[in-house]
Amino acid sequence: GDFAEEIDTLVVGAGPGGYVAAIRAAQLGQKVTIVEKGNLGGVCLNVGCVPSKALIEAGHKYESVSEGYDDMGITSEGAKLDFSKVQEWKNSVVQKLTGGVEGLLKGNNVNIVHGEVYFSDDSTVKVSQDEYSSQTYKFNNCIVATGSRPIELPTFKYSDRVLDSTKALELQDVPEKLVVIGGGYIGVELAGAYASLGTEVTVLEGGSRILAGFEKQMAQLVQRSLKKKGVTFATEAKATGVEESDSGVKVSAEVKGEEQTYDADYVLVCVGRKPNTDELGLEQLGVKMSDNGLIEVDKQCRTSVSNIYAIGDIIDGPPLAHKASYEGKVAAEVISGEASEVDYLGIPLVAFSEPELASVGYTEAEAKEAGFDAVGSKFPFQANGRALSLNASDGFLKLVTRKDDGLVIGGQVAGPNASDMIAEVGLAIEAGMTAEDLAMTIHAHPTMGEITMEAAEVAIGRPVHIK
Ligand code: FAD
Repeated sequence: GDFAEEIDTLVVGAGPGGYVAAIRAAQLGQKVTIVEKGNLGGVCLNVGCVPSKALIEAGHKYESVSEGYDDMGITSEGAKLDFSKVQEWKNSVVQKLTGGVEGLLKGNNVNIVHGEVYFSDDSTVKVSQDEYSSQTYKFNNCIVATGSRPIELPTFKYSDRVLDSTKALELQDVPEKLVVIGGGYIGVELAGAYASLGTEVTVLEGGSRILAGFEKQMAQLVQRSLKKKGVTFATEAKATGVEESDSGVKVSAEVKGEEQTYDADYVLVCVGRKPNTDELGLEQLGVKMSDNGLIEVDKQCRTSVSNIYAIGDIIDGPPLAHKASYEGKVAAEVISGEASEVDYLGIPLVAFSEPELASVGYTEAEAKEAGFDAVGSKFPFQANGRALSLNASDGFLKLVTRKDDGLVIGGQVAGPNASDMIAEVGLAIEAGMTAEDLAMTIHAHPTMGEITMEAAEVAIGRPVHIK
């Protein structure tokens, strides 16, 4: 139709950025419409965070069932893996969550529209369902949350054998051999998941080490544990090309200057993601972008066009779901007249690798670079009763504090449960707590939480359980 519907706040994209922004804006009294061209939940719920964590967990479970625990006297025989069932289960997890998002949007009176958005001007969009039907919407404010897609290497065109992360999550059989290009967190997570399920995995990383976003020592823990599972790593490896056949691939790479080839069933390319900002019509409205397509915003997520906001993977910063959601809340609050702005210090970075890695705030080195007189105080999982009884003793937590007053300004955790343990350090940062505050907080025994308390005791110079 050609009549226009009036909307207070239009949200484009229903990933963890968009759907959270829509709910918050509606809670604050806005009349909200959200438009999604694919599935509610975006990359995160459908083909990212959630299905990858489900696959990783299936890998862990299969590994422990098939390998048993010799040390505990638990052995096992004849463990079986029905991968199509794993896929069914994984899909059911995704469906529960995306169904939940739909319920929440409706429960908050957010109008859900399916279709693809194109901006006509700074207060009008065209939403197309297909080639023939489209509808015009008028808005006062708009939050753009269109997310990102995998980068395609010119020498590795995606196909049935050359996979992006989405296809890698949807395989119907566990491959015998898999080459992963890119040792960032997505590549490493998927490498780990398939290695646990029995695949022989080779990771080719262009840089000098994997997981460059984390401290070297943490990344080394992961590399060591993946090697134990049979994963092979090649660093300073430039993947140069692929030959495909009906049965597999032959990947060529220049590893430390030498030509190498790798045979596998599939090659998975995880070399980064590209913001979905090129097909929206935003440039002609004067919305400023950097050369790599990221939209420029201020601390309130406002673009150079004052009633258009941008959040999530399409703006600078770590492309993570919780960052997108956080920015979504800020943008919705700003539009609703609240004095909200982003502060990124408390954004945790997590890799669901083996072991898990997590970091929040400053690392010791970053803190020193930023001019803080900072100290790092470490406590090993080995000295924690709960970690030992969980057979999870390989890891550590490091608290980064300011020397003069003990203010918590960062923390890193490597080990099982790191993804949850980092939350307490994040809370300490957000609440402006000192190491003494953490040390004085009574933690239940025996729990992994005590590790955080004891690292804080290290920071104030009176640890009980290490010398
Ligand atoms: P998206 O989730 O990408 O959502 C954008 C939505 O906008 C999509 O649904 C898209 O269809 C829609 N859209 C795009 N263009 C239009 C248009 N023109 N009109 C209408 N709709 C449009 N992050 C974590 O924090 N933790 C993890 O464990 C994690 N694991 C990951 C694992 C994998 C394999 C991948 C690929 C990513 C993972 N991420 C993880 C990253 C996370 O998925 C993203 O950071 C997050 O989804 C970004 O949210 P978003 O709202 O910005 O965009």
